[in-house]
Amino acid sequence: MSLHISSRRTVLGAVGAITTVVGWNVTAASWAWAGDTARLPGVRVVSVPELDGTLTTDTSQFGSYAHDFSRLVTGTVPWAVLTPGSVQDIAKMTRYARSNNLKLAVNGRSGTGGDLESHSCYGQAAVPGGIPVSARGMARILSTGADTVTVEAGVTFAEITDHLLSRGRTLPALPDYLPLSVGGTLGVGGIGLTMAPRV
Ligand SMILES: Cc1cc2nc3c(=O)[nH]c(=O)nc-3n(C[C@H](O)[C@H](O)[C@H](O)COP(=O)(O)OP(=O)(O)OC[C@H]3O[C@@H](n4cnc5c(N)ncnc54)[C@H](O)[C@@H]3O)c2cc1C
Repeated sequence: MSLHISSRRTVLGAVGAITTVVGWNVTAASWAWAGDTARLPGVRVVSVPELDGTLTTDTSQFGSYAHDFSRLVTGTVPWAVLTPGSVQDIAKMTRYARSNNLKLAVNGRSGTGGDLESHSCYGQAAVPGGIPVSARGMARILSTGADTVTVEAGVTFAEITDHLLSRGRTLPALPDYLPLSVGGTLGVGGIGLTMAPRV
C-alpha cells in the first residue's frame, strides 16, 4: 500500500504502488484516482477533505468490516475506512458522505487484541459501499474527576475499568462483556447485571 501524505496528517491509502485516491467521482459513483480528471474528460471529482486522521481504501484491511459479530449479515464491503484524528474529521466526512450520497456509520471495533469488529448482531454498523468510521480513532480517556471520567466514544468499558481500577475505583454500572465501545453500547445496548433495578 502506498500512502499519500499531504499537509497535517491527511493520509489517503491506495491500492497498488502508485495510485492515490483524490476524491469521489460523481460521474461514475466510485473513488477517483490521481490522473482520472486528465484521463477522463468530463468527469466530476469531489476532492476528499484534508483530514487529521486517515481514510484508507486498502481493501486488505476491510475483512472485519465485511461482517459483524454474528456473521448473519456478510459481504458488507465498504469503499473506504475513516480512522478519525479529530472530531472535525467526522464532521467533514459526514458532510462529504451526505453530499455524495455515500453511507457512513461508526463501527465500535469492539473485541480484544487484534480481533476487532462491530459487536452488533444484524449489521447495524455495516455500510456496504460506504464509509465505516473506526471508533478506535477516538478512544482516549480525557480526564478523571472524583466521581466522573470523561472519555471519547470509542473507548471500551474494559479500558475504562483498567484505568479506574488503578485508582481503586470502578464504574457503578457496566455491561457484562467489557470490551464493547462506549458509543456502540450506549447507542443500542447498555445492559448488564450491575444495572439490574434494586428492589
Ligand atoms: C459477545 C457479545 C457480548 C455482549 N454483551 C453485552 C453486554 O453485556 N451488555 C450490553 O449492553 N450489550 C452487550 N452486547 C451488545 C452490544 O451492546 C452491542 O452489540 C453494541 O453493538 C456494542 O458493540 P460495539 O461497541 O461493537 O458497537 P457497534 O456494533 O459497532 O455499533 C452499534 C450501533 O451504534 C452505532 N455506533 C457505534 N459507535 C457509535 C458512536 N460513537 N456514535 C454514534 N453511533 C455509534 C453503530 O453505527 C451501530 O449502529 C454484546 C454483544 C456481543 C456480540
